[in-house]
Amino acid sequence: MSGKFEAFIAGMTTLLDMKPSESDLLPVCGKLLGELVSTDDWLPDAYAVSNPETYCQYLLYKDPDSRFSVVSFVWGVNQESPIHDHRVWGAIGMLRGAETGTLYARDADTGQLIEGESLTLKPGMVDFVSPRLGDIHRVKNAESDQASISIHIYGADIGAVERRVYDPKTVDPSPFISGYTPLPK
Ligand code: FE
Repeated sequence: MSGKFEAFIAGMTTLLDMKPSESDLLPVCGKLLGELVSTDDWLPDAYAVSNPETYCQYLLYKDPDSRFSVVSFVWGVNQESPIHDHRVWGAIGMLRGAETGTLYARDADTGQLIEGESLTLKPGMVDFVSPRLGDIHRVKNAESDQASISIHIYGADIGAVERRVYDPKTVDPSPFISGYTPLPK
């Protein structure tokens, strides 16, 4: 991986070594991630391959102590995630193309999902998720004629975290563990 990516990992490792609170961590993480996605010249091609069947999530880096993981998300045309949560802090940096994230909240009384704000990220922009900030969302490719790629960092080995997917028609969410997409041969 390039020096730019190595510098990002070194910055995040130094940051987490200080054991910051989430509210202290996220602004610094956002700045480092913003710098990483401010230029699109470092992601190896293998981590940018789209699959016509489904969006891809390639593991770029996992901290040896699983304090964080970094993933390249590749969204093909018309591809979107299910409505899902993360259970840990996360930051999303847009590298190539554009994606739209829509937040959801659960009504405390009925458990029904309520659609919230949408935000479309353009290259260089960063957004955050966490149980504290709003953790349930759906993400889709906002480009109609090209794949879009965003770099995600999460406060765990995200591919191994037991999370939930939400069906707006049912109250009870389903458990899921995302894993990672194997690199194309
Ligand atoms: Fe997400």
